[in-house]
Amino acid sequence: MNEADVMKLRITFRDNFHTTGRIHGSTIDVLRDKDGRPYIPGSHTKGVVRTEAERIWFSAKGLEPCNITDMKEGFRCPNEEKCPICGMFGYPNQRDTEYREGVLRFYDARMAKGEVSPLRTHVSMNREKESGVDGGLYSEKIMEAGSVFEGFIVIRRPLKPEEEGLLKGAVASAGWYGLGKDRSRGLGGAEMELLPSSIDELVESMGVRK
Ligand SMILES: [Zn+2]
Repeated sequence: MNEADVMKLRITFRDNFHTTGRIHGSTIDVLRDKDGRPYIPGSHTKGVVRTEAERIWFSAKGLEPCNITDMKEGFRCPNEEKCPICGMFGYPNQRDTEYREGVLRFYDARMAKGEVSPLRTHVSMNREKESGVDGGLYSEKIMEAGSVFEGFIVIRRPLKPEEEGLLKGAVASAGWYGLGKDRSRGLGGAEMELLPSSIDELVESMGVRK
């Protein structure tokens, strides 16, 4: 068995950035972990990178993307041998609704540097189903442009050259489309990069509390 490889995913925001966390009074906070530190869920960075990998791969090959959002019981990758994406990022299990995890496992990205700015924009909460609030104006906290977040990607087996190229290409260009909320309003643009890391660094980042 080959040892799993670990890469660090660094995200440097060009734009202000928002992820919806708790609501205090009429202020929507950013998403924070139990220690109060802003973070970006690994499921979100994974989704952003996957979307970009699909954009790159299927347009280059002239194939229809595998539609995993419309998946049903018994989903199989429709592109089978021609698709490295489902194997890398995972897809629903045949027997239940859990995702079969792919080769890549994305961990949450935590804020390494940055400022959370008190109040920036006012939004109406009418369309926010998940908030449980029925309307009125709310202020959002945002993370300021220049903030840096770092997470990890565990790569469970050595990637084939085409998989590695696809991961690197997707990470390099995914940030252009932005992360977090309100990308259409110009929030969330970022530069993303992969850096060498190790299991030790990952474990340390998860175990050490400041
Ligand atoms: Zn596929």
